[in-house]
This record gives sequence, C-alpha cells and structure tokens, in this order.
Amino acid sequence: MTLLLVEDDTSVQELVTAVLEKAGFSVDVAKDAASGHRLALAGKYEVIILDLGLPDMDGLALLGKLRSQGITTHILILTSKDEPEDRIRGLDSGADDYVSKSCVLAELEARVRALIRRKYNVKNPLLKVEDLEINTATRSVSRGGKRIPLTPREYSLLEFLALKTGQVVTRADIWESLYAMDPSTSSNVVDVYIGYLRKKIEGDGLKPLIHTRRGTGFVLGSDPGE
Ligand code: CA
Repeated sequence: MTLLLVEDDTSVQELVTAVLEKAGFSVDVAKDAASGHRLALAGKYEVIILDLGLPDMDGLALLGKLRSQGITTHILILTSKDEPEDRIRGLDSGADDYVSKSCVLAELEARVRALIRRKYNVKNPLLKVEDLEINTATRSVSRGGKRIPLTPREYSLLEFLALKTGQVVTRADIWESLYAMDPSTSSNVVDVYIGYLRKKIEGDGLKPLIHTRRGTGFVLGSDPGE
C-alpha cells in the first residue's frame, strides 16, 4: 500500500517515512507542491499526507487544485497549524482528516489505516474470510484460530486482497498498489507472491481461498464462481 507524503521539512519526512514504512506502507516523498501535484495525478495512492507550509505553494491551495481536478484520493493534512480555525479551513477545503505535528506518530498511523478502511468501505479492522482472520491493526493473520506468520510483503498483498474480498483484483492493481514506483520489481512478482501466500494460508489441505481468474487476476473469498 503506497502513500504519498508531501512535506518539505527533511526531519519530518524522515521520521514520518520511517514510522509508516515500519507499519508496512511504501512511502513516496514529494518535497514541494509541484512534485506533490505531479505524483498525486500520476500515482495510485491509498492516502496523501499533506503539509500546509510548502515552499512553492500553500498546501491548502494544492489541496483545492487536486480536488478541482477530480482527485478523490483521501488526503490527510499533517501540520503544525492546529488552531480550530485551521482545522475547519482544511476540512472545508476537501481534506479527509487533519493531524497536528504534535500528535504521537502512532495516531497518524492509526488515522491512515482508518482512511484506508473508508476508501474500501470496510468498518471492521478485523477482516474475515471464512475462517481466515486478518487483523489490520496488529498486521497479524490466523486461520482456524492458528497464527500464520507472513512477511511484510505477503501481509500487504493479503490485506489488499481482503479489503476487496469477493472482487476480482487485477495483477496491475496489485502491482501498482504494492510495488508502485519501485523499478526493481516486475508484474510477475505478483504471481510469485500469490504462490507464497497460497502455500501459507491454504497449506495442509485447507480449503482454497485465493482463486485465479484466468486473464484477469485473483479473488479472495469462499466461492467466487467462475
Ligand atoms: Ca513545511
């Protein structure tokens, strides 16, 4: 799951990126409004985290520009301006959430996860597919009550499929969501990781939950039909 961070302050960039990467996200960083604008239009981001004090343009102006251009990606303002009127102005300009730079980073992380649930219309942070349970808060997975250890990348792939349970997820969607902007990967990495994931969650003769739709992609679910 890739996030875009638009922030000119190097120390904030490094801190926020480190925390979010540790939480399993990929983070693209834009150091000014112009590159933030370009990336926001080009990339498929789960959430955009936007600073207001940018060197070339006010963050609120960039927000307004993105909204007027039809960008519907959830945008979270991260700023040191946290008077009530600043928050009101931010939300009324089209932001989805507002976090002060003085908040603990765990809160930023939790708010990003909440925005991702909103994007996929999921209310419960515990995603369930038959006897498979994916806890998006702790990033832990179990099947039939038995814990399944996954690597961070396997977990991200499973969570992405689970957020779209019952729907076909194309290889391109997966590739863009998990590996966007990473030139070292290619789309057959998706098939490799699907293979790893199947071995772990469907091993030992358990009922298959990841179904291949020939020519399109994959469906996570009990019985997607063919
Ligand atoms: Ca700034």
